[in-house]
Amino acid sequence: MPDSSYRKERGPQFWRVARQACQLAGAVDVSFFFLFHILGSPILAWVNVISVSMYVAAYYALGRQQNRLAIRLIWTEVIVHSALGTVLIGWGSGFHYYLLMFIPALFVTMPLRSAALSLVGLWGYYVGLDILMWFIAPIQPISSGALLGVHLFNLSIVFAMFSYLSFYYLSMVLSAQRKLRRLATIDPLTGLFNRSHGSELAEKEIGRFQREGHPVSFMLLDVDHFKLINDRYGHEMGDRVLAKIGQLILAQLRTQDLVARWGGEEFLIILPTTSIDSALSSAERVRDALCSYDWKAIDGVAMDVTISVGVSEFCEGDDIASVIRRADQALYRSKAGGRNRVEQEEVLEQ
Ligand code: GH3
Ligand code: MG
Ligand code: MG
Repeated sequence: MPDSSYRKERGPQFWRVARQACQLAGAVDVSFFFLFHILGSPILAWVNVISVSMYVAAYYALGRQQNRLAIRLIWTEVIVHSALGTVLIGWGSGFHYYLLMFIPALFVTMPLRSAALSLVGLWGYYVGLDILMWFIAPIQPISSGALLGVHLFNLSIVFAMFSYLSFYYLSMVLSAQRKLRRLATIDPLTGLFNRSHGSELAEKEIGRFQREGHPVSFMLLDVDHFKLINDRYGHEMGDRVLAKIGQLILAQLRTQDLVARWGGEEFLIILPTTSIDSALSSAERVRDALCSYDWKAIDGVAMDVTISVGVSEFCEGDDIASVIRRADQALYRSKAGGRNRVEQEEVLEQ
């Protein structure tokens, strides 16, 4: 039976790597079969036939998602093989190095408590084998030249496996970080920045204004009577309209302009190095693009989608809350003035 929970916990990538490891370990054991025949160590040569069969079995078990069985086969193989190799031809053979491969693997394949207990067991086994070889001579010794060859071969394989595993874990961590970052900064419906990242970006732009003195403008944009769109065409269609609005807004702006979904059907747009006059013409462009878009392209439903926009420019003594409040007041006026229009912040007389 497939171990679905076991598989889900570790993720399919992990088991793919485990399958590759079985292929590699099987290939190493096939080469050992011939090597030990040449070196006159027939017991070790035939041990490799059993090892290869175990890796083949583990490989197919992984293919059938019997992950627990596969892990047990691999464990048994490495534990028995490393001990046999060591006892037969000596500690110098380096077969014991393969046991060290389990240290990271333990933590990946087991819950923390079991991994810690198994680690202690593994340490005892490794040290026990070391002490044993201080007191007994190898049962089937090979020449010192051959021993050096086997030692270097084993060492190199363990190095290669550790390097591959480290590379694999690093790429897993980096891809998880990228995914987390995306989840933390992007609104999944529209693909725009979410509100909290939008605020962070606004703070950054304000910092630039304070350092370099470039103007920075803000647009707060709200879809008109969006509730009616939901009521008439359904919430799912409402979602598709919102996603399309996001695309249409981006298409009208420069690459350096930053667009965030500020609330349900409300968007905040940060326009770096832009004074209020240019921001007003950008807002008009966006408004025009939305109301002239042929909404029939979405499911053949003819509907009117318009937006109202409030625009403000950051000035000395402002903070993020005050500049957005002014854009919001302007937005309120464009709603009150009949919607489908752009209003700018009120200029206070000195
Ligand atoms: P106004 O012109 O005054 O802005 O009217 P309005 O209907 O757009 O504003 P109101 O605040 O009354 O309603 C906003 C609606 O937007 C209500 C809410 O259900 C809908 N909405 C908010 N978030 C989403 C969303 O993610 N998907 C969908 N489909 N609808 C949403
Ligand atoms: Mg609205
Ligand atoms: Mg609203």
